[in-house]
Amino acid sequence: MRGSGVAYPELVIFDNDGVLVDSERLANTILAELLTDAGLPYTFEEAVRDFMGGSMVSMRTKAEARLGSALPADLEDRYHQRLFDGFATLQAVPGVEAVLDALDAAGTPYCVASSGTHQRIRTALTAVGFWSRFEGRVFSAEDVAHGKPAPDLFLHAAAALDTKPDRCAVIEDSPLGVAAANAAGMTVFGYAAMTPPDRLASADATFHEMAALPTLLDRS
Ligand SMILES: [Mg+2]
Repeated sequence: MRGSGVAYPELVIFDNDGVLVDSERLANTILAELLTDAGLPYTFEEAVRDFMGGSMVSMRTKAEARLGSALPADLEDRYHQRLFDGFATLQAVPGVEAVLDALDAAGTPYCVASSGTHQRIRTALTAVGFWSRFEGRVFSAEDVAHGKPAPDLFLHAAAALDTKPDRCAVIEDSPLGVAAANAAGMTVFGYAAMTPPDRLASADATFHEMAALPTLLDRS
C-alpha cells in the first residue's frame, strides 16, 4: 500500500470468463464444434487462440471473414443454449473467492466487466454463488459500442463507479482484455492459467494462481 493510508487500487475490475468462473474450456469446446459444423473447421485450441476474451459479435465478424460467407443466423442462440446447459456444473476459478473475501475485508470495491452478454454473466455468476457480490456492478460488452480490445467497456465501468482509470486494476486472462485495459490507462494483471504468459506480456504483471493476486494488488 502506498500513500497516506489510502488503499490502492480504488477499484478492481474483474473479467468474468476464465477469471471469476471456470467457463473457457466449455465455451471454446462448444464454439469450435459449432464453427466446424458450419463449415469452418476449428479446434478447441484454435478457438481459444482466436476468440477467447472477445464478444460473440466480434467472433462472428472474424469467422465470417475467414469462411467467406455468413454463419448460420441461430449460431449464437445455439451456443448460449449449450453453454447455459453446461453452466449447471460451472465452478468458480480456484482461489478467486478468497480474493473477493480479501477485497471485502479491505473495503476495496470491485466489479465485473465482461465480453459476455448480461444474461451470460448473470447465469454464470449465479451458478457459482457470486451473483449477490456483483449485482449492480456488472458491465457487459452489450453496454458499449466497441468491446475489448477497445477501452470502452473498462472506461464505462470506471465512470459508472466514479473512479479514475489510473486508480483501477484490471484482472484479465486474455490478450484482448489486457489490450483493452492498457488502452484504458489502467493497471492490468494477467492470469496465465489457460493463456501462455507471453501472450499476456503487455500486462503489468502475470500470475498463475489466484493466491498470488492480493499481494500484486497491494503493490499496484
Ligand atoms: Mg476471460
